[in-house]
Amino acid sequence: MTFFAAQFNRSRIAIACLVWLLFTASQQEAVFWSDWWRKNQSWLILSISLWFTVLALIKDRAFLSIHAVSRIIYFILCAGVSFYWLKFNVEIVSFVSQVNLLIDLKEYFPVIFPSAVFGFVLLLLSLKSKDLTVAVLFTSSVIWQLYSSNTLALSAEVICVMVALIYLLVVCIEFYFLAYRDDLTGLPTRRALKQLSLSLSRRYTVAMIDIDHFKKFNDTYGHDIGDQVLKLVATKLANIKGGGRVFRYGGEEFTAVFPRKNSEVCLPYLESLREDVASYEMVIRDASRVGKKFRKAHKSQSYKMVNVTISIGIAQKSSKQHFDQVLKHADLALYRAKKRGRNNVSE
Ligand code: GH3
Ligand code: MG
Ligand code: MG
Repeated sequence: MTFFAAQFNRSRIAIACLVWLLFTASQQEAVFWSDWWRKNQSWLILSISLWFTVLALIKDRAFLSIHAVSRIIYFILCAGVSFYWLKFNVEIVSFVSQVNLLIDLKEYFPVIFPSAVFGFVLLLLSLKSKDLTVAVLFTSSVIWQLYSSNTLALSAEVICVMVALIYLLVVCIEFYFLAYRDDLTGLPTRRALKQLSLSLSRRYTVAMIDIDHFKKFNDTYGHDIGDQVLKLVATKLANIKGGGRVFRYGGEEFTAVFPRKNSEVCLPYLESLREDVASYEMVIRDASRVGKKFRKAHKSQSYKMVNVTISIGIAQKSSKQHFDQVLKHADLALYRAKKRGRNNVSE
């Protein structure tokens, strides 16, 4: 699994796998470091809890590269922090022992309390991030803490297999999204559209949607703002009604597919989508007007309002037509919509 995750550029999962592998191996009597592991258990439990949290903060860089050095340094730092915590928390424990209210909590202070804090930080990170790897690192941390506090009545081997399966699932899901979801807009890609086209029935309608004068927009406001606008338009398009499904066809072009629907039925939905986009006043962070340093110093952002329009071409499948041909007809209709002055829907 380590090799598999590393091959797929999921180095954080590969590292986590390696940790579980070493841990499972250390539980075997035959392994020469198992005694050492047992003697330093608290330190290792704490270091690995912290390590899962640190992994959530670093990026997936190639497993076997120069970045491996920085990961080793981070791990040594985790081990160092845990070592000093265990060394100095003796004083905290002796203080806690003097406070009647806290005396029962004394045994949790060295390992369980800091591990829970690391786990909580990881929970916050996974709630904030859209990255599935962060969520799975949180799961790993929970399993790790449950196991090391003897709450899980499962053998190390079973846990290791269970975790490996979770990692495998995550790598597969992430690659599914990589193949079928557009990174910028979050919409399904053209590949997903091709996939859907194979399962469509005899009756369906396709619409090609194109943002008007987007090149000019980019030239005026810059590519970064263009990207922000693409994202915002995509969120509007994703909310299309009437059972339509929207894909990013490429660039500033999108495709909507309405399975089992005639074009007359789809027309009002597309018309209202066009109106929605045209009346959408988008609030854009303007990075170009003030420099980064200025913004940091003044803790201010500069915003501006922009709006764009879209043109739409619709085509309904007629008998003996392939999906590509329907798409072509929708494209021709889009061309007519552009010719008619843009910001309209053409059949
Ligand atoms: P028309 O109304 O005829 O569609 O004019 P247009 O300028 O929108 O069409 P054209 O095909 O000439 O230009 C499309 C532009 O879309 C060119 C490119 O700069 C912009 N574009 C395509 N993909 C992206 C993207 O991912 N991000 C940004 N910011 N711009 C993009
Ligand atoms: Mg365009
Ligand atoms: Mg275009």
